[in-house]
Amino acid sequence: MTEELNPLRIVAGQIKDACEQLGLSESVYEILKEPQQFYDVSIPVRMDDGSVRTFKGYRSQHNNALGQYKGGLRFHPDVYPDEVKALSTWMTIKCAIVNVPYGGGKGAVAVDPRDLSKGELERLSRGFIRAIGHVIGPERDIPAPDVNTNPQIMAWMTDEFSKMRGYQALGVVTGKPIMFGGSLGRSTATSRGVVVCVEEAAKRIGLDLDGATVAIQGYGNVGSYSGVFIQELGAKVVAVTDVYGGVQDPDGMDAMALVKHVEETGSVVDFPGSQPISNEDLLTMDVDVLIPAALENVITSQNADQVKAKIISEGANGPTTPEADRILAEKGTLVIPDILANAGGVTVSYFEWVQNNYGYYWTADEVDEKLRMLLVQAFANIYDMHEEQGVKMRDAAYLAAIKRIAEAMELRGWV
Ligand code: NAD
Repeated sequence: MTEELNPLRIVAGQIKDACEQLGLSESVYEILKEPQQFYDVSIPVRMDDGSVRTFKGYRSQHNNALGQYKGGLRFHPDVYPDEVKALSTWMTIKCAIVNVPYGGGKGAVAVDPRDLSKGELERLSRGFIRAIGHVIGPERDIPAPDVNTNPQIMAWMTDEFSKMRGYQALGVVTGKPIMFGGSLGRSTATSRGVVVCVEEAAKRIGLDLDGATVAIQGYGNVGSYSGVFIQELGAKVVAVTDVYGGVQDPDGMDAMALVKHVEETGSVVDFPGSQPISNEDLLTMDVDVLIPAALENVITSQNADQVKAKIISEGANGPTTPEADRILAEKGTLVIPDILANAGGVTVSYFEWVQNNYGYYWTADEVDEKLRMLLVQAFANIYDMHEEQGVKMRDAAYLAAIKRIAEAMELRGWV
């Protein structure tokens, strides 16, 4: 990988720029450029055929000046330490932007879960928690779902941790099933946030979402419900892709029917009535709104000048490289940065943890209303800074977040 694409380099560069612009002491950058702790574990798993396989697992605890470490767990064969460290850093920034009282963490296991049986996946999930159980907890570090992990995996992990500690520790993990301490609205919260941000952005640039066209890369947890929610506003989902390929239809495809198609077949490919499209072509389609909701570094210096969308709402973490970001800014594309656009997930994770602590649960409408309130406020702060100071929304978001984190570190006497 080139240094341009190393996500840890990217996020460290963004923090350095923000620290310089804010005139902060060098010690702030010195602390924020690396995670406070990084755990690298080996997880032995008894496979169905009786053999034992070991998997690499990571947990990165970036910064806890504002509260417990918080962040998802990714199961993906290509994960590597710098990626996990970068993702944990983005969590620190993200929590500060939406003003939830958490720091940043992230974890991953190098595995393709499609290669495992359900029993093997459960033993791996429980094994990972046994390996990192001594450094997580409701008051210390709180994992959640991310790429290829889901509420069932969160349930196994919570159960394993509760057994280790000998009490019901529901608040150790968020994104749990509703039956087992989960929050209503959590599974769709990230998508809800992605679309609330598009709504707010559309108002600001005078784009009517009724009839607007949308392309979505990645049709998993984040991408699929972004499609469903944006369609509810009258927009047309004209193209979607996933790891297997993609589909398009200029008249729009029913986002919920696509969700069912993915549930039944495992992919968006061959959705009835559609034409195929590649991941590369989707990114440069002539659409109003583009939602990257898969992995990092998909909008790069190679394709940014061909992107035609008016608004990009980054459902995925780190989909746009800094060079591509500059090109898009020059073209006048409004990029709603990941650290704001996909912060709905961690916001409702916080609500879930609050409900677990209280033992009292809110309605779906209450959750949605509180989420909307926090995100609309965060969007307005950052958009106004972007306009008033003439900086990209991403830069405005970093400035707002780093200022808050630096204040907390100063109050704690760290800098
Ligand atoms: P998911 O596993 O549910 O879905 C991922 C989707 O991306 C799938 O459709 C998959 O086929 C597709 N994909 C994977 N690799 C791809 C590739 N190489 N090319 C094209 N498509 C590919 O994951 P998710 O939870 O929806 O997460 C997606 C992104 O959103 C990630 O960047 C994640 O970090 C970010 N995110 C997720 C949450 C959350 O609450 N789940 C919150 C914040 C950010």
